[in-house]
Amino acid sequence: MTEQRYLADSTVREFEATVERSLDDRVVLDGTHFYPTGGGQPNDTGTLRVPDADGDGEATLAVVDVEKTDTVYHRVDGAAPPAGTAVRGVVDWDRRYAHMRYHTAQHLLSAVLLEEFDARTVGNQLYADRARLDADYPKFSETDLADVETRMNGLVDDALPVRHYTMDRADAEAELDTERTRIDLLPSSITELRIVEVGDADDPFDRTACAGTHVGTTDEVGEVTVVGRTTQGSETERLTFTLAGT
Ligand SMILES: [Zn+2]
Repeated sequence: MTEQRYLADSTVREFEATVERSLDDRVVLDGTHFYPTGGGQPNDTGTLRVPDADGDGEATLAVVDVEKTDTVYHRVDGAAPPAGTAVRGVVDWDRRYAHMRYHTAQHLLSAVLLEEFDARTVGNQLYADRARLDADYPKFSETDLADVETRMNGLVDDALPVRHYTMDRADAEAELDTERTRIDLLPSSITELRIVEVGDADDPFDRTACAGTHVGTTDEVGEVTVVGRTTQGSETERLTFTLAGT
């Protein structure tokens, strides 16, 4: 399995790696900072720089898709370099950083909805310019939406720290609020969890089991606008929000 280096450090934009396998236009590296689609967060894009044929320069291959199945596959626009090739990966940072801001904002929104409306998050999808979240709730009013927006912007202004760590699943199920962490949504094959925590270490505002990439403090999220709501059936509401500058 490719070492998923973005789990340990989501701030790295450029990295060195070695091709382990290549299949037509797909490349498997020994380690990567490219995030593969998952958990409502889209894949990273960017480039792989490889030595060109005569060895005195670099050729650039666009990374157009990244997916994780048995390992992480980078789909490139062109022929994949052979096994053993040393490459330099460059992540499209504008896109990735927008995903990080939206992902942290989504955790804040999920926590606010649970705390204030007892509304559980049942789905989410983020993009580089907007995000949506589905919650178990009959119907939010305009006042509710304004309150949620105010609350989220307060949490952004508080510049709360965001950190992550791994935890044994059995320990997490015993010690954490499983509804909040949404551990119950994860397949039983996952025995070690990555926990993303927002707020003070001794009394965190939110803890969620998550393999996504996040900003370091909530002020990086920027100003939140709750755009609106639509119904997804009598018990589910879909909220859409945007972040300043995206
Ligand atoms: Zn998450």
